[in-house]
Amino acid sequence: MVVAAGAGMGIDSGLRFGNMGSPEAFQQRPAAVWGVYGHQLNLYRAATPHAGFGLLHAWGQRMQQGCFVFTSNIDGHFQKAGFTPARVYECRGSIHRLQCADNCKGPIWSTTDLRPQVDEAACEWRGELPTCPRCGALARPNILMADDWQWNATRSAQQRMLLDMWLDSVQAPLVLEIGAGRAVPTVRNFTRRMQLRGSRLIRINLHEANIHNPRDIELALGAKQALQALEAHLVSQGSTNHSKEKADGDAPRI
Ligand SMILES: [Zn+2]
Repeated sequence: MVVAAGAGMGIDSGLRFGNMGSPEAFQQRPAAVWGVYGHQLNLYRAATPHAGFGLLHAWGQRMQQGCFVFTSNIDGHFQKAGFTPARVYECRGSIHRLQCADNCKGPIWSTTDLRPQVDEAACEWRGELPTCPRCGALARPNILMADDWQWNATRSAQQRMLLDMWLDSVQAPLVLEIGAGRAVPTVRNFTRRMQLRGSRLIRINLHEANIHNPRDIELALGAKQALQALEAHLVSQGSTNHSKEKADGDAPRI
């Protein structure tokens, strides 16, 4: 099973990522942009992934080949919900990683040691701004921004390589696409490529389901509601404990 997640997956955890600005803004107004980032990081650290993440994790563990996640979200919630980091591809990076703002090709490092002190009223970072351990330039989150020529894609590329290796080892895994809109088509493009490889699709999208393909399933619901409905269906079919294999026509089974 492949989980292909867009912005609609994170919304039910109560998080909506604010505009991080541009690489230029980090250079021109570093205290202000770091203030926004520090505030967001605090919120993301405190947030709990909604119940849908746990369901996906449990289903993935029952799959013979396991589960891989393709996500455009930067919240790190799949890992927080128990997914193995080596089975998550974050195509836009992560709010929990930092890189050099000049992209000196140095390391990407974790925010674990970062304790954001933000003046909420002024929306400014207080104290010294984090810097690159290699060259001493300003640090910035390892998140892909608009017109981002300084984006360090090393970590993301490694994750992508693991995804491609896993895809080579499995046959047409079911794609569970969740909350991926047309506006940012990265996730939808991935889904399309998987369909061309023979994968079946369950698309969960509150406003833009519309698969128009009788072989596949669309659920015009929010992420958490749809996943809980799928779990209720699985329980009612008795397939949560493999007690019954149900021939269900052509509909994808998970
Ligand atoms: Zn550097």
